[in-house]
Amino acid sequence: MAVSRRALLVVLAGGVLAGCRTEAASTSLAGSASSSGSSPLSAAATPSGISGAAAAPTATGTPSAAPSPAPTPAPTAAPAKAKEPTRAEVVERYAAEAPADWGLEVAGVITELPEGERATALTFDACGGPGGNGYDAPLIDFLRAHAVPATLFLNARWIDANPDEFEQLAADPLFEIGNHGTVHRPLSVTGRAAYGIAGTRDVGEVYDEVAGNARKLTELLGHPPRFFRSGTAHYDDVATRVVADLGERVAGFSVNGDGGATLGASEVRREVGSAAPGAIVIGHLNHPGGGTAAGVAAAVPGMLAAGRRFVRLSDVL
Ligand SMILES: [Zn+2]
Repeated sequence: MAVSRRALLVVLAGGVLAGCRTEAASTSLAGSASSSGSSPLSAAATPSGISGAAAAPTATGTPSAAPSPAPTPAPTAAPAKAKEPTRAEVVERYAAEAPADWGLEVAGVITELPEGERATALTFDACGGPGGNGYDAPLIDFLRAHAVPATLFLNARWIDANPDEFEQLAADPLFEIGNHGTVHRPLSVTGRAAYGIAGTRDVGEVYDEVAGNARKLTELLGHPPRFFRSGTAHYDDVATRVVADLGERVAGFSVNGDGGATLGASEVRREVGSAAPGAIVIGHLNHPGGGTAAGVAAAVPGMLAAGRRFVRLSDVL
């Protein structure tokens, strides 16, 4: 139900998840909600996806004291397995692979929190680029005032344009920083576009889109990002495997909270307020003056009063 509702909302909102572009949405969404039939977690659960995960913040903000085994060499294990592959290795690995699916919910995209989870995850993207470098201070101030945690997907261009804001967000334990790509492109190995935005053209460009901003975030945060969301949140099912190989999990969504920052406050209030336990809500933090901040501020207090908890993705995934 969440899937069809989300798809409907995207259509109603003009199909805009670009978040920082104003092109007419001409891309058909037909088929985007289809499932490949495999578990959405399967690709993200590959062993190669664990690198760096231990450095992520825990739910309490304190380092895990898990008694990790001593790093003794394991003669039978392939040492290269845990090491992040190079661009050339990734390109070679997927050279013969053709994608079978394309859209918002292909295999490897996490669209909801684990089954049984009663909390809800708010996620906000900052897309960067022309028209996309704004900072929604009222939104962030509201989250802080109510101690509502969130996962913030930041594009490399937005970080470059907002160094002070980035520093403050990164230093705030309320927020987890995710990877929203290097230049905000739909993640395709064949150049497919979404909402008029050209996708990456091949496996090498997928690597660049993911790894470029991952390197930046690793340097700035002191640890690699755990979650990735592409510009427009579109993927093919080869591209999501590349993301997993690079140690990140692909974060989709089940509730389109602000229609790509196009919805007014009352609509945002309705959509965010409709989020069920276990939902992942997408919104934007780069469009001050839009309806996102006011809509979130109208919806969340009632949810809190009703006992709803909010979590960062790393708290439960
Ligand atoms: Zn975006």
